[in-house]
Amino acid sequence: MNDLSDKRTAAVHFEPDDQVDRLKSEILRKLTYSLGKAPAAAQAHDWLTAGILATRDHAIDVWQASTRESYATGRKRVYYLSLEFLIGRSLADTLNNLGMTEPMTRAMRELGVDLPDIETIEPDAALGNGGLGRLAACYMEAMASTGVPALGYGIRYDHGLFKQGIENGRQIERPEDWLSFRNPWEFERREASYRIGFGGSVPASGPDQVIWTPEETVFAVAYDTPVVGWRGRDSTTLRLWRARAMHPLSLDAFNKGDLVGAVAERNRAEAISNVLYPNDSTPAGQELRLRQEFFFTSASLQDLVHRHHRQFGSLENLPEKAAIQLNDTHPSLAVAELMRLLLDEHKFNWEKAWEITNATISYTNHTLLPEALETWPVALVERLLPRHMQIIFGINARFLDAVRRRSPDADLASLSLIDEHHGRRVRMAHLAFVGSHTVNGVSALHSNLMKETVFAQLHRTFPERITNVTNGITPRRWLLNANPGLSRLLQDICGDRLADDIGLIRQFGAHADDGAMHERLAAIRRDNKLRLAKIIKQDCGVVVDPQALFDVQIKRIHEYKRQLLNILETIALYNAIRAEPYRDWPPRVKVFAGKAASNYTTAKSIINLINDVAAVVNNDITTRDRLKVVFLPNYNVSLAELIIPAADLSEQISTAGMEASGTGNMKFALNGAVTIGTLDGANIEIGERVGADNIVIFGMTADEVEIAKRNPRPSAEIIRATPHLEGVLDAVAGGAYSPGERDRYADLVEGLRLNDWFMVLRDFESYHQAQRRVDALWADPARWWHMSVANTAHCAWFSADRAIGEYAERIWHVPFGQPTQA
Ligand SMILES: *Cc1c(COP(=O)(O)O)cnc(C)c1O
Repeated sequence: MNDLSDKRTAAVHFEPDDQVDRLKSEILRKLTYSLGKAPAAAQAHDWLTAGILATRDHAIDVWQASTRESYATGRKRVYYLSLEFLIGRSLADTLNNLGMTEPMTRAMRELGVDLPDIETIEPDAALGNGGLGRLAACYMEAMASTGVPALGYGIRYDHGLFKQGIENGRQIERPEDWLSFRNPWEFERREASYRIGFGGSVPASGPDQVIWTPEETVFAVAYDTPVVGWRGRDSTTLRLWRARAMHPLSLDAFNKGDLVGAVAERNRAEAISNVLYPNDSTPAGQELRLRQEFFFTSASLQDLVHRHHRQFGSLENLPEKAAIQLNDTHPSLAVAELMRLLLDEHKFNWEKAWEITNATISYTNHTLLPEALETWPVALVERLLPRHMQIIFGINARFLDAVRRRSPDADLASLSLIDEHHGRRVRMAHLAFVGSHTVNGVSALHSNLMKETVFAQLHRTFPERITNVTNGITPRRWLLNANPGLSRLLQDICGDRLADDIGLIRQFGAHADDGAMHERLAAIRRDNKLRLAKIIKQDCGVVVDPQALFDVQIKRIHEYKRQLLNILETIALYNAIRAEPYRDWPPRVKVFAGKAASNYTTAKSIINLINDVAAVVNNDITTRDRLKVVFLPNYNVSLAELIIPAADLSEQISTAGMEASGTGNMKFALNGAVTIGTLDGANIEIGERVGADNIVIFGMTADEVEIAKRNPRPSAEIIRATPHLEGVLDAVAGGAYSPGERDRYADLVEGLRLNDWFMVLRDFESYHQAQRRVDALWADPARWWHMSVANTAHCAWFSADRAIGEYAERIWHVPFGQPTQA
């Protein structure tokens, strides 16, 4: 791996003082010749762009060396297909990975610019909804850090996830506009442009290879961004596709005065990469969504097949040189598209094409919620992608035949790629499963539930296919950069090589009961909380005390994530404080943030309720210093980076069996927050690592939830058996928190009374008790900081580098080096 370390030093090969001078002149050159600005006239955004362009040059050196090396050696490459990449800002992390933070800070300072200041005006690239998209972004960085050659493929949406405002306690959505001032990180690649067909017809039957003549064709144009890994050793490429019309303007129509018709084709084509669907849990039942999925999948497959063919002259050895990872089912059409390319364009026979396809593709499942499992009407797929529908039928017929021959009594209806019960729909998870050599879940519990529930029949047919790779997060962004205070302390204790080998963090565990260490930790946490308190004051107009317990739930708003359970319990606590105002209640600040899908009425109602409760609680003098509730608007990666280092308590309270893994839970634990959570997703594995004494677990298990769903208990009975709950529900339903509109939450509460699907009522008492255990733990600082140290010290395993190592070894079969090994 010596050639790799050469590249690493290439990024930082000059002396510190030289480096500052050099950076200064690079920044000034960019300002002058790329932006056309004189320093005296430069605005903050000009300095930012000049800084990014200067940094980008260094990233490019690494990037080109990586690309050259992987071409020269013909190494196997990973192609990571994801409809979402939740990137956030890039400058600070790129500088850190390049080892350029110090010199860049000094260079900017000598030019009269505060680097941290201008970093905050970089747009937060939100090409994703939540965890699934953030996972893809963490993995691109982790692959760059561990020397796994990779391309990430996605869509370059003009508009990412909407911006959330809160007005009168309600969510309002404004369009996001990250590209409005151009994106200095990206490169347009005109030569990487592919035709994407829709509609048209194919011969009804005949040989395996057919000619498909699409009715409509759009162009996919590539935009590339380098993603630099730790120490600038390697870089991966994020390749995002933009849709362009074949004929942007119809002069004919224009000359006849039809101004709208003249650009109709253009509008229809470009709509494909216009907006991210603001929903990560239910398939948008819309044709445009399917067009997006096929658009980026086809462009990516054409691109990688083309590159492979150019380099190796044949597709026979595709599985030896390419690993295609499907991040959830959105790119499932890759199975049919790769078959089409192999059959129709490269003239393989069916058996060989299938062998290559299956040996190249693998699939990550992210949800078992029935309403979130993607299916598409056969009629729609047939109209939009007639050739692919034919191929899917072909795959299905051969697959079911083979099963029938092997086990005559198999349940073919549940194995079929076509669901015949709901008006004939294509099951995208089945397509991905059957087309892949390996299928993985994202936590131990989730992978086991896959085998028992949705994929039980498929698992019986392919008992070796399902494996588990528990999710991970990049410790560079989520610990080292987001929490510089804690990072410095950890480097003090564990050594400067901590960032090279996050496993060294284990040594911190020896200080779990060291009082002096507790004080240093408390001071760091306090600074982080002060930083957050400022933002809370600014955005919510609420003053909070950094001495209070910061109790944080930040994530997409969803019934299964149970923000409702949290706010109802908050009301019970509020009532309890008012009933006994002289007890020594530990002061708490309840922090919420998260977006609700624009069409998800219940989730929006929950946001409204949180804000309404906040208005009442924050203005009540009896509870003034004991309880505050805040809802920070516009949750995104940058806000998460600010909030997580300031959290004392991490709320991970999903209904057991419903959160596939979670990654927010890992970010908090690594930063030393204590988790209050259910036995769900990766919470279980966090508990195993930090120890049962250092996590607060409550509630039903996944098995108990399963049983309770089959034999539901009447809500009225549960409410009667749960102290405090009746009063809380009556108050909410009766308008105590919405005096201007008494019925505002009548439906929300009625929903719970009718059907407690998410076990909010069932888990209420257990959660309430767990919160009282938290009160007691918080009252004992030595105990609390012991737990905090244990969490930080034992969560290195949740590094994305470990996860990528597992994918590399067990699924992709590509070489992988720990960041330290180069
Ligand atoms: C980590 C992260 C998520 C995922 O959070 P969960 O708590 O696992 O749902 C979502 N959004 C952002 C911005 C994140 O950084």
